[in-house]
Amino acid sequence: MQRVIDSHVHLSERRDDALFPFAKKNRLQYNLGELLGSMRRFKVGRGLLLSPPLEQGTILPNSEVIKLCKRSGGMLAPVITVEPSAKEVKAAVRLAEEIKSDVKGFKVRLGYVKASADNSVFGPLYDYAESEGLPVLFHTGDTAFSNGELSRSHPLTLDGLANKREELIMVLCHFGNPWFEDAAELIYKHANVYADISGLITGGAYAEEYAGWLARKISEAIYYAAGADKVLFGTDYPVSKHSDVLALVKRLQVDERDKEKILCRNAARVFHL
Ligand SMILES: [Zn+2]
Repeated sequence: MQRVIDSHVHLSERRDDALFPFAKKNRLQYNLGELLGSMRRFKVGRGLLLSPPLEQGTILPNSEVIKLCKRSGGMLAPVITVEPSAKEVKAAVRLAEEIKSDVKGFKVRLGYVKASADNSVFGPLYDYAESEGLPVLFHTGDTAFSNGELSRSHPLTLDGLANKREELIMVLCHFGNPWFEDAAELIYKHANVYADISGLITGGAYAEEYAGWLARKISEAIYYAAGADKVLFGTDYPVSKHSDVLALVKRLQVDERDKEKILCRNAARVFHL
């Protein structure tokens, strides 16, 4: 089997990183050395690095994400996070042009920012992403903090955009959790829509039952979509650990070929790795 590709990783090495509570819960140190060590241990060859949120409600600058990728010796590749303002969209496109051979996609933080996916502010970003064949990752479903807006992160909010832009490759992060069936309908209906299984496992009470529930939901979504060609492995490190998400894939009631697609083949195709 090819090496696993993790489509969704965060890191900052800053003390004001808002994902630290998740790292603590998972007993992770949440630093580059640990991340690369865990990737090697679990045979994860590549990871896509996304900016984490900071405590002030802002995000780690994309330039810092690029620096961390450089330090990873080729194991991490950057995804540029884009906030909803004309200035930020312009800066993101300019940055993508500058690092053209390295950039693997864009990320829009639905539910955390005051804009929906079809907001016209993102128009130039989608034009550029389409022309370069770069996927746009969208946060969908449950938000990590209680002040998120689910009315903007529900997977069905992306149906209109997928209709309008059939050339835009879209990834629904976290499979729209808990709206797995809605996400399944989107990946079934639209040739250009994918979903990742990152950040779903967070521990806590009934962790074992919940892992079983997740495995059933994702398996059923794959039956509904008539295959696993649109499903991507991801951890959302430090929200979920490599070991836990790999165990989730193992539990899926699908054949081995489909598991291989989820773990590496689909991401290799979508992100040109
Ligand atoms: Zn994430």
